[in-house]
Amino acid sequence: MNDNVSVHHATRHLLNTSEQGLVLLGSRCVTCHEYYFPATDSCTRCCGSQMAVCELGSQGTLWSWTVQAFQPKSPYNGGEAPEDFEAYGVGYIEMPSGIRIESRLTISDPTKLTIGMPMHLVEADYGKSADAVLRTFAFTPSNPTEESV
Ligand SMILES: [Zn+2]
Repeated sequence: MNDNVSVHHATRHLLNTSEQGLVLLGSRCVTCHEYYFPATDSCTRCCGSQMAVCELGSQGTLWSWTVQAFQPKSPYNGGEAPEDFEAYGVGYIEMPSGIRIESRLTISDPTKLTIGMPMHLVEADYGKSADAVLRTFAFTPSNPTEESV
């Protein structure tokens, strides 16, 4: 890796590094205990405004997925020319608390994605701006089988 390339982490504010490594940061309603990601200041379930920051973990299961096969409109900012766009997976990851997180996936091959498969949080580079590599969080299969490697 070229150490001279700077990195713009588009979603670093949504993450924390804990003893278990990288985790997602969300919030939880103090009154009704509903979880939110990204963190929010108020609860749409009970209209409460007492929210606590919480860690949502780094492991979940693939609840559903699709493949983004064409270049999205703004605010997508991958920086590539339309002809250079490469499809990527997008999914919902169900976390242990029950919240489902919409996330980029590290793989886009439909034969390697199965609903219910264990997934874990990673950081992934997805493009370039004029002066930096663009990075975000993503989920990747936790136990890739020989078929899914
Ligand atoms: Zn609430």
